[in-house]
Amino acid sequence: MPGFELFGDKERNQVKDVLDSGVLMRYGFDGMRNGHWKAIELEKKLAVRMQSKHAQLVSSGTAALTVALASAGIGAGDEVIIPSFTFVASFEAILALGAIPVMVDIDDTLTLDPSAVEKAITSRTRVIMPVHMCGSMADLNALQAICDRNKLIMIEDACQAIGGSYDGKPLGSFGDLGCFSFDYVKTITCGEGGALITNNETYYKNADHYSDHGHDHLGNDRGAESHPFLGYNYRISELHAAVGLAQIDRLDEFLAIQKRNYSILRHALEPIEGVSFRKVPEGGVENYSFLSFFLPSEAITKATHAALGAEGVDACFYWYANNWHYYKKWDHLRNLKSLGPVARELAEGLPDYPEAHFKQSDHWMGRTISCLIKLGWGEEEMSKRAELMAATIKKQL
Ligand SMILES: *Cc1c(COP(=O)(O)O)cnc(C)c1O
Repeated sequence: MPGFELFGDKERNQVKDVLDSGVLMRYGFDGMRNGHWKAIELEKKLAVRMQSKHAQLVSSGTAALTVALASAGIGAGDEVIIPSFTFVASFEAILALGAIPVMVDIDDTLTLDPSAVEKAITSRTRVIMPVHMCGSMADLNALQAICDRNKLIMIEDACQAIGGSYDGKPLGSFGDLGCFSFDYVKTITCGEGGALITNNETYYKNADHYSDHGHDHLGNDRGAESHPFLGYNYRISELHAAVGLAQIDRLDEFLAIQKRNYSILRHALEPIEGVSFRKVPEGGVENYSFLSFFLPSEAITKATHAALGAEGVDACFYWYANNWHYYKKWDHLRNLKSLGPVARELAEGLPDYPEAHFKQSDHWMGRTISCLIKLGWGEEEMSKRAELMAATIKKQL
């Protein structure tokens, strides 16, 4: 996945443009910038590539989720449905606004189970947030139908799935808003950065203002701009945007490498009895950032993960026991441990997580191993790796 593996002159030259002018900020200083508007240029390119009317760059993927929620008017006490398998940023963004993260089960897509989502809807539900973990998506048509029936907003977290698609649309462009991360380990990187995309004018305008202290960005005197509503600082710098500008031109090249390496591994594992693969919903195309597969039992999966490590096969993840990505290790969320008092609506509205169980999620995650697909692996190296993995897995079955 990581774009940093293939850094080069394109990235260096883009950054040099910014350093030469000395204007590191995305807004203002028109006369000094030698015509360089890296953030604006990247927003335009991203919008075109993602077939969306608007893109707003921000400082991280977590910021993108926060700004997306805020732009859609989400605030204290509103419920946002998220999967039990995700990254901590999902609930951090929701909590930052005083809203309530409502976790639900995943299914064999390793993302939201539409029937679990339907059961979790209350009068306070405002948003369904599918997270396209490890490069693939939920049944988005089913989720959209639930949104339509209940007048809910869909915000896609496509941070791990940039370049994938569903029903012919780029992931992120299917819902009302879509979010990307350009942190250091994502398929394309800015070092740190993120973006949201949308076709909704109001959400876009809100995101543009909210991510820069509520500035209305009218005229060319920043000091004279007014603030129609409260905002925050989630700005990206020109230096970061410059790196992203070089990387977005390489997205399709990176995706092709991921697909090649993924396919080599998949072909090696496919014939093994006892190995089955994560379900990709009809109409979905992965971005091939990971290959995720199921083994027959939790015990076998645990042992296989350990055996792969012992054989020196790195970059294979057993999320079930991972601190960042699965609800089992999120005691800080489950017990709402914050530095200061949280919004009253949140303290009163948070589901009873210490008592909650996600048995269906455990059923899938306990048997899942995900292998990161690196860009730096050459074809021969990948084939050797795939052979070693296949042999190691077979020994455990
Ligand atoms: C990386 C990631 C984020 C957060 O992005 P940052 O840029 O690191 O803040 C959010 N969601 C998912 C699924 C991610 O993988």
